[in-house]
Amino acid sequence: MLLTMSILFGPLLLAHAEPREAGESIPTVQATVETAPVATPGDSADDPAVWIHPVDPSLSLIIATNKEQGLLVYDLHGVELQLLPVGRLNNVDLRRNIPGGGPSGGAIDLIAATNRTDDSIMLFRVDPEARRVEALEPSRFPSGIDGVYGIAMYRNPSTGQAHIFASRDKKQPEHGLVRHWRMEEKQGGGLEPNLLRAIRFESRVEGMVCDDDAGTLYIAEERKGIWAIDIGTDAPPTPRRVAVTRSKGPLVPDVEGLAIFDAGGGDGFLIASSQGDSTYAVYDRRPPNRYILNFRIVDSDLIDGTQETDGIEIVSVPLGPSFPHGVFIAQDGENPGANQNFKVVPWERIGALLPNPKREDAPR
Ligand code: CA
Ligand code: CA
Ligand code: CA
Ligand code: CA
Repeated sequence: MLLTMSILFGPLLLAHAEPREAGESIPTVQATVETAPVATPGDSADDPAVWIHPVDPSLSLIIATNKEQGLLVYDLHGVELQLLPVGRLNNVDLRRNIPGGGPSGGAIDLIAATNRTDDSIMLFRVDPEARRVEALEPSRFPSGIDGVYGIAMYRNPSTGQAHIFASRDKKQPEHGLVRHWRMEEKQGGGLEPNLLRAIRFESRVEGMVCDDDAGTLYIAEERKGIWAIDIGTDAPPTPRRVAVTRSKGPLVPDVEGLAIFDAGGGDGFLIASSQGDSTYAVYDRRPPNRYILNFRIVDSDLIDGTQETDGIEIVSVPLGPSFPHGVFIAQDGENPGANQNFKVVPWERIGALLPNPKREDAPR
């Protein structure tokens, strides 16, 4: 019933794309899958990514961090398939078809994660035949960041090269630091990081996501808001302000995970975890990233809703019969009776709340 009501009221809210007032209702959706709980109590689960199976998308994998333990791999039913207890992995991201990463120079599906145990960037690949995640050799490189924290990957559409952005969580001396590496092919195969630049914000940054097609990195400055910078050029970055936090919303600090729904042709949505009010704020993918609405994930009969979400992820392509339009995945800070986990919402439940992303005036 809740879902039906929210679909009915969604378009009404669209007519007023302004910060909502206290008590105003927020459209809701429900998850259809939740992952197994993580093995450690307290604030542990953090950030999800998804590997899309190249032949049968229903065999895709959810790859997620437990920031007290390591990397977790789940199937799309939420069953835990693997635990790699490699350290305090905070955030994770993934890009497919990265040339030069294999031992003989072939392409790989590359995963990168920030490891707070040793302040490294850890690198993994997915073996598509075995459907397993394995560490690269060497498995990590030093980030040079004291308190490494958020991560995002970018795949340059013209070169295929992977880029990695990682942030820092400590106040002194460089709060708001983001470092940017390009992963370059080594002689004889394998990848090595080339540090390109450092980008600085006034305060702590964690959530980040790259729009590869647009060449844009979106950055969540947790207490302040969302910024965009151009990563398609070598020019010094000049951050563009996308959204600012307000205690009344629609973006209530901390701003946590960011993710993009790709509707094709540059259209789609940018979504942010508004952790302070346990909602998700949706913006137009295209600059100037107009605010659209907030939604919430609420209890169903079987699966609880989400609270104080850290990381989020979106897949914009079909993932088999259970998720024919893709998925929205959110870390859940409160999972009653169990440790934290991740909730999975079929994308069409969120898409039904939103305007048609294919704008009439958009260039094709
Ligand atoms: Ca955070
Ligand atoms: Ca919950
Ligand atoms: Ca986090
Ligand atoms: Ca947290």
